[in-house]
Amino acid sequence: MSITLKHSGQKMPLVGFGLWKVPTDSCADTVYNAIKVGYRLFDGAQDYGNEKEAGEGVRRAIADGLVKREDLFITSKLWNTFHSKDHVLEMTEKSLADWGLDYFDLWLIHFPIAQKYVDPAVRYPPNLLFDADAGTMEFEDVPISETWAEMEKAVELGFAKNIGISNFAGALIIDLLRYAKIPPAVLQIEHHPYLTQPQIIALAEQRGIAVTAYSSFGPQSFLELGHPLAKSVGLLLEADLITTIAKAHGKTPAQVLLRWATQRGIAVIPKSNNPQRLAENLNHIDFDLTPEELEKISALNVGLRFNDPADWPGKIYIFA
Ligand code: NAD
Repeated sequence: MSITLKHSGQKMPLVGFGLWKVPTDSCADTVYNAIKVGYRLFDGAQDYGNEKEAGEGVRRAIADGLVKREDLFITSKLWNTFHSKDHVLEMTEKSLADWGLDYFDLWLIHFPIAQKYVDPAVRYPPNLLFDADAGTMEFEDVPISETWAEMEKAVELGFAKNIGISNFAGALIIDLLRYAKIPPAVLQIEHHPYLTQPQIIALAEQRGIAVTAYSSFGPQSFLELGHPLAKSVGLLLEADLITTIAKAHGKTPAQVLLRWATQRGIAVIPKSNNPQRLAENLNHIDFDLTPEELEKISALNVGLRFNDPADWPGKIYIFA
């Protein structure tokens, strides 16, 4: 199952594997095993600090004849400190070199936030804080139009087959589409039953932009980060509605949460370090939820955003 991307016409798998918080010491094996299980899309980022290891897993799988490069769909994301025209292309090349690839299938702007440049020779990945001891962030006045023009050059130079955006809100997307020579192929957003975001999904659909949902299990991913609401809100994977629907279909709660997105044409990129869950997440498309079930799950929406730069030390209100 895949989504055909506008502009390039390339097919993007509907289910992929997310690389955030995959530890460096096991990342190469995790990626290799995920390919063996059948994953073809990997969602990485400069910020995840494991691009070299993920690339090692990919190279090993190709060397062992499990897949060819063209069978895979590799996504990475430009970090906030590299938005300036002086850095986008050199950092695209750095990420490609880390992965050991000639091109990305999808290259995203991670956040519409331009932070002060950090020399990768000094600190890489740069992380959120400019000064870790003081706990402070620093910013740069780089408009998205400047960054996008460089992303377009990455396509022209063959570094990326598709370019896209992540964590962008509606007005910024509408403005980007006014000047983009290459429109964004994909919008990656936080999307789960506690944060359904119907309007931005409608906007993406209206403008031919594919949507990828991240953090499909809602609070689960943010528990380990000590997010204050992740525990108190109640786990989606344990919610009565989700477990009841799962039982009715003979599926797991995780499969129900993923199917709620993919059945509506939204791609998912769940992350797991556990081989059994890895397979369970990939193989969740062989059943359909009823329209009533889809609606009931969507009705769990409380507008709860776990990944919000308003909560970062710099308090950046990109979703205001
Ligand atoms: P996720 O929703 O995939 O949840 C991961 C958590 O769920 C982990 O604790 C894992 O152990 C658990 N889990 C996985 N499969 C399970 C199963 N079958 N049953 C029970 N528990 C299971 O969370 P995520 O990692 O936040 O999001 C997925 C991916 O999205 C990331 O790895 C990353 O690639 C991407 N992402 C992008 C952004 C962005 O800003 N663009 C932000 C967050 C995540």
